[in-house]
Amino acid sequence: MNADPSPDVTPPEEPQPATLPAPAGPADTGHALWAAERACCCLARPAVVVVLPPGTGRGHETDLLLCGHHYRASRDALEAAGATVMAEGGQPVTF
Ligand SMILES: [Zn+2]
Repeated sequence: MNADPSPDVTPPEEPQPATLPAPAGPADTGHALWAAERACCCLARPAVVVVLPPGTGRGHETDLLLCGHHYRASRDALEAAGATVMAEGGQPVTF
């Protein structure tokens, strides 16, 4: 008699690929832009995302990453241009 019967070698269920979340879509609120190392204006890290509305000669919105210094320096002009400003996480910033 075999004292050590063969173990059940039935393979486990086929491994299933993990269900991954859908890849992130294009940045429409600037969230992906926070991964940027530097602002558009200078070498500093971005403090806000500015979305400029379409204007003369520019038929689409334009996103800008501004550091805190350059945001404060251009705040009046941005407000006059009707820009939308968001802090990190997409929180709206009021002028
Ligand atoms: Zn700057």
